[in-house]
Amino acid sequence: MDSRQWACPTCEEERDFVQPPCIDGHSGDGGECPEWICADCGTAVVTGDAAVLPVVVAAARAA
Ligand SMILES: [Zn+2]
Ligand SMILES: [Zn+2]
Repeated sequence: MDSRQWACPTCEEERDFVQPPCIDGHSGDGGECPEWICADCGTAVVTGDAAVLPVVVAAARAA
C-alpha cells in the first residue's frame, strides 16, 4: 500500500499515512484519492488541504 509521511496534527510527530479504501469514487477515473489516514491514530487528512501541512511541519520544527 502506498504510504507517505506527514506530521500528524494529533500525534504531533511524523507518522506514516495510508490511503483508506476510497468510497467516494475519487479513483474511478484513474485519479488518486486525496484522502489519507494516520496509520497510528487514524486522523484523516485530505491532500487538497495538505498545502497547509508543510506549514505545520515547519512550525513543529521551529518549536
Ligand atoms: Zn476518495
Ligand atoms: Zn496520528
